[in-house]
Amino acid sequence: MRLRIAPSPTGYLHVGTARAALYNWLLARQKGGIFILRIEDTDKVRSKKEYENDIMRHLKWLGLTWDEEYRQSERYELYRKALLQLLSEKKVYISYDEPHVEGDRRPADTRAFRKNAVFEFQTGKQGGVVRFMTPDHEEVVCDDMVRGPIHFNTDDIEDFSIAKGLDEPLYNFVVTVDDIDLGITDVIRGEDHISNTPKQMLLYKALGHTPPRFGHLPLLLATDRSKLSKRKGTTSMKDFVTQGFLPEAMVNYLALLGWHLGASSETGRASAADQEFFTLDELVKVFSMDRVRKSNSVFDMAKLRYFNSHYIKALPLDDLLKRLEPYYEQQPHVAEIAGATNHPLHERFRRAVQVEQSRAELLSDLVTAVASYRDESQPCDPAMLHWKIMTTEETIASLQHSKSLIAGLRGDEELAELQASLLQKAGEYKQGDRGALLWPLRVALSNKEKSPSPFELVWVLGKDESCDRIEGALARLRT
Ligand code: GLU
Repeated sequence: MRLRIAPSPTGYLHVGTARAALYNWLLARQKGGIFILRIEDTDKVRSKKEYENDIMRHLKWLGLTWDEEYRQSERYELYRKALLQLLSEKKVYISYDEPHVEGDRRPADTRAFRKNAVFEFQTGKQGGVVRFMTPDHEEVVCDDMVRGPIHFNTDDIEDFSIAKGLDEPLYNFVVTVDDIDLGITDVIRGEDHISNTPKQMLLYKALGHTPPRFGHLPLLLATDRSKLSKRKGTTSMKDFVTQGFLPEAMVNYLALLGWHLGASSETGRASAADQEFFTLDELVKVFSMDRVRKSNSVFDMAKLRYFNSHYIKALPLDDLLKRLEPYYEQQPHVAEIAGATNHPLHERFRRAVQVEQSRAELLSDLVTAVASYRDESQPCDPAMLHWKIMTTEETIASLQHSKSLIAGLRGDEELAELQASLLQKAGEYKQGDRGALLWPLRVALSNKEKSPSPFELVWVLGKDESCDRIEGALARLRT
């Protein structure tokens, strides 16, 4: 099997293209086939090197490596040869109409061959476009891998243009010539290409080749069921990366965005069919085109975030620390601490990452949360330290008690142990109103209305820093 992804470098890698790339890649890897990247850069005006680089960078980011790489802009010789072949076989003709006039699908007057037209066209003496001579009353059937047979009648297909000049071949034509030349056996792409498929199948025949198998993937919709677009939310891989998604989560989510494992046939056991977490390697084993959904898929950001939190949790700490590096830009002081293992605050930073790892949905949020453990130069309003209707004296007494408890810790407790012991002490304080001990402690340590739990704060900050912060709060209460 030879499969390809053929992005046009006219924008950043789009989520729809990434999904198509993934499905092609999975089939290629599953069947020991070849996965090809073909950059479709014949649109000289809109194609940009920046987009091409972005597409390649993010395919690699997803783990979708390719075996062969082509650029249409380097293959003009091939298109010219094929065009001349079709011209000489009179399967196409030169038309002097505007290339995209609506209405007259079979411009009978121009379809006739003018004697010198081809010569004039080749020498560039005359303008004109090359149109395919679409046959009348023929049925073209695409046996689609996803949708089953799709019937087209050639009477509904215009004499579509295939080139605007000898060196200006157009989309349907270059795709066909390339797919033939590269021996593509299976084309998996978005449903938005369905109207191109019969045209390409006609071109296959005209060029003397059998079309590949096609599989058209359902559309991706925004949550309001309109077509997914930039205005409706994030669509480019680049922006998903910036927001802090992991490639593992992205691949997993994209796989399920149009494909499902299905009920485990005979056994009827729900477990296998309900599986929702898949690594790339697992997907290679279980993916199949016959389980691609026919209905459109709604892109659900909340679900993607849920997948992301799952993969963030699963990362070994050192791996996670590496993945966080690109996100320090907004938090330079975190970068400094993270970058130096001998920095006095490095151990505290690692603990903060461990705590936040258990609840972060995005890498960027994780970095922000970790940054919030630093000592704020702006201490909180002392009134915030009071639990319910505690008096200043009661809050002072509570914090002093906390301080003595923390000073009595060994310092090497695991988070769970520390939590259990502080919870127990809080239960013994003030008739079991735990908040009377834990609220002032948490606010004294965090200086914030909302923050991680006091146990997590003590565990991350350590004995000395915790006592210092409590001391600071006490000083403010006493003035
Ligand atoms: N270049 C086309 C696109 O970016 C894809 C062509 C194809 O897959 O046949 O939409």
